[in-house]
Amino acid sequence: RAKSQGRNGFQFFDAALRDEIRTRVRLGNELRAAIASSGISLHFQPLYSMPGNRISACEALVRWFHPTHGMIPPDQFVGLAEENGLIHDLGEWVLRAACMEAADWPAQVKIAVNVSPIQLRNPRFLGIVENALAHSGLAPHRLEIEITENIFVQNSATNRDILRQLGRIGCSIVLDDFGTGYSSLGYLRSFQFQKIKIDRSFVQELPERSASGIIRAIISLAQSMDIPITAEGVETHDQWAHLNDLGCNQVQGFLLGRPQPSDMIRQSIMSHA
Ligand code: C2E
Ligand code: MG
Ligand code: MG
Ligand code: MG
Repeated sequence: RAKSQGRNGFQFFDAALRDEIRTRVRLGNELRAAIASSGISLHFQPLYSMPGNRISACEALVRWFHPTHGMIPPDQFVGLAEENGLIHDLGEWVLRAACMEAADWPAQVKIAVNVSPIQLRNPRFLGIVENALAHSGLAPHRLEIEITENIFVQNSATNRDILRQLGRIGCSIVLDDFGTGYSSLGYLRSFQFQKIKIDRSFVQELPERSASGIIRAIISLAQSMDIPITAEGVETHDQWAHLNDLGCNQVQGFLLGRPQPSDMIRQSIMSHA
């Protein structure tokens, strides 16, 4: 039975794989066109200081409005862009647009931009950041670069170099989604982050005891290293109160504000900055 199905099974797999590759190539071409013709845009989600409840930063989150598929979330096309190399153009567009937007906000509000490990390996990356800052007039200390732990899996000397250079020009480096990736604590010692963001998977389990214990441990670790802590994915008042008790410095989540287009985030900033 296995043998007779084997061949058909293989042909079926082959055809499915070919379709899958065609789809990805087509989607890649459409993404390239979208980057070149304002088919992508940024939404901004507020980050609130704790205590104080003021907007101290906003995170830029990329959006693709596809002509037939509608809104495609970043989780579905950032990976594709990393595979086909479009991440360099996409990331440069995001940096420039985010800096331009933030340059018009009150000076105490920072802008956080997500950067893929592949962008960091581009020898032009530092220049791209410097250009985005110069072109927008945004002060470098208002730009926060968010990276995930996964960049420390490979090539760590090169990664540390580019992070140091970004720090030298005045940008902040933020460790995003902390606790989910390649969680060796060694890199916390070898590189000084300006902020750590606790992944929302822990926050969403609050007030469950194990999640609460992990968050408490992360916060005390960060405090001992003088690094402020942000919690992402705060959806309920209970979670917020818990994080406040634990001494969290900044919160982000649907409870406080969803990602929103630029005109709406301006209004939020004007009433909460
Ligand atoms: P991230 O950097 O961890 O961003 C936070 C994500 O959590 C956003 O999803 C945001 O909408 C979502 N979120 C915020 N608060 C809540 C909440 O209370 N509940 C829930 N359920 N979700 C919440 P989004 O916009 O879909 O982005 C997903 C991921 O895509 C980001 O995760 C980031 O890793 C990546 N991404 C987004 N924009 C960019 C970009 O411009 N460049 C790169 N390289 N990656 C990006
Ligand atoms: Mg992020
Ligand atoms: Mg995150
Ligand atoms: Mg996350």
